[in-house]
Amino acid sequence: MISFYPGPSKVFPFVKEDMQEAFDLGVLGINHRSSEFVGISKSCLALLKEKLEIPDDFTIFFTSSATECWEIIAQSLIKEQSLHIYNGAFGQKWFEYTHKLKPMALKIHYDINEPLKPVKFENSPEIIAIVQNETSNATQISNDIIKALKRNNPNSLIAVDVTSSLGGIKLDFVNGDIWFASVQKCLGLPAGLGIMICAPQVKKRVVALKEISHYNSLYHMYERMENFQTTYTPNVLGIYLLMKAMQRSENIQKIENITIQKSLMWYQFLQSQRFDLLVKNLLVRSDTVIAVSTTNLEEVKSKALKNNIILGNGYGDWASSTFRIANFPAHTLDDMRLLMNVLEKD
Ligand SMILES: *Cc1c(COP(=O)(O)O)cnc(C)c1O
Repeated sequence: MISFYPGPSKVFPFVKEDMQEAFDLGVLGINHRSSEFVGISKSCLALLKEKLEIPDDFTIFFTSSATECWEIIAQSLIKEQSLHIYNGAFGQKWFEYTHKLKPMALKIHYDINEPLKPVKFENSPEIIAIVQNETSNATQISNDIIKALKRNNPNSLIAVDVTSSLGGIKLDFVNGDIWFASVQKCLGLPAGLGIMICAPQVKKRVVALKEISHYNSLYHMYERMENFQTTYTPNVLGIYLLMKAMQRSENIQKIENITIQKSLMWYQFLQSQRFDLLVKNLLVRSDTVIAVSTTNLEEVKSKALKNNIILGNGYGDWASSTFRIANFPAHTLDDMRLLMNVLEKD
């Protein structure tokens, strides 16, 4: 079975070997305060920085999921007001969870065929929250727009959800302040681990606010991360698998080239077969998730399933009118050909 669901998605085949190795090396039962754990954690973080081109002075944290990162940001980085600019279901959920914790949270909705407008916001919200790759509708925000948003709002921290793009495309981390993802999407690993990447200025804000009411208060997370540790017993196997995946990984620039090539192949194929793409504007179409409008979702899905392929449903507003195809690094050209054969109209 090959999963093209945009998360959880296909895991890299080498995960089988790496899991076995973790077991054989006794990694599964190690203490999270031990030097063995610190060694794995330190190596994993250094490899993430090297392969994904994350600046050295950024701090990376392990969390349990991207959803947890939404909550950590709301708890620890917002005193009163955040601004959420979104066009789809994940951006909206992020707003809703934040709004429950910080009732002054504001939202701006934009159309899926419009690029996000990186204007200056007069009241300088503490956090400006954006979803770089909106998994629900297959739109993405360019590095240039994120850069302009930061330039126009230097007093706000820009928080960027990259759950379904981290590991697949090159992100210019200096353009944002907080970036986060979970590993079961573009990183091709089993679910149960999130990572959060913070610029140096985030620590200043955390120290100034000193919010310490939660096990995952960012203040405590910084204290623990000085020794490459977490505030709670983390997913050690997940961290080990991430370390191994990063060891094997090419540099992100190379991976991005392949991702873009594969996405062009998908878009060309779908258009040649007269499929109707949900996103009409080329400038905002995602490279890592593709959404296709359809009137016979069940038929397409069951045909794929008969060929041992799991397609993504639509999501949120688009649940019954689209299907989605993940274009993650774990998806090979052979995998793509199999799905294209299934989708080919006779
Ligand atoms: C999947 C997804 C999430 C939630 O990820 P979890 O690992 O389930 O917490 C958040 N944001 C985006 C854009 C996603 O695609």
